[in-house]
Amino acid sequence: MARSIFLFNTHDLPHRAGEMREYELDLKITEAVGVDLLSVKPGEIIEVDLRIQSVDEGVLATARVVADATGECTRCLKPITWPIDENFTELYYYETSNTKAAAKRGSKGKSNKEEIDLDEDDLSFLDGDDIDLEPAIRDAIILNLAVNPLCTEDCPGLEDKKGENWEYLSASQTQSLTDQRWSALKDFPLKN
Ligand SMILES: [Zn+2]
Repeated sequence: MARSIFLFNTHDLPHRAGEMREYELDLKITEAVGVDLLSVKPGEIIEVDLRIQSVDEGVLATARVVADATGECTRCLKPITWPIDENFTELYYYETSNTKAAAKRGSKGKSNKEEIDLDEDDLSFLDGDDIDLEPAIRDAIILNLAVNPLCTEDCPGLEDKKGENWEYLSASQTQSLTDQRWSALKDFPLKN
């Protein structure tokens, strides 16, 4: 199986608290990252400015994630581009006998993407020298996406449909207004 593009090898970082390294990564993704309506598409690049630091418990990763998600306006279906710019911080623990059980749960969750959201409390662990940036990057991107993306804040929607709706509405409103005016006139004292 090909190595995941989200795995980052930290062998250049000495395991001594205080050590730090910085990287600029261009991750060309092979499957969409995002939600159904809006996602970074396969073949697109996710830029990650990554800083890794050695701390007592493991490796602390701080990153800025920049990418463009694409999708459709939920009102008028026009194609839209959604810029993503988000930071994350993730601590990857060294695997110890104490944390092994938790680590097993963590890696089980990662194989089933649907479980990631449910198990947010799961800790992340180094796998040898590797840290898996995928869950943190996915979360950062999904955090940035709108639930109902619009091309513009005041998108009028599908013009034709709305026109029909207005015609229908104003016809019935006019009708009831006229009725009210007539009924008011009926009771109006016409004597001077
Ligand atoms: Zn629109």
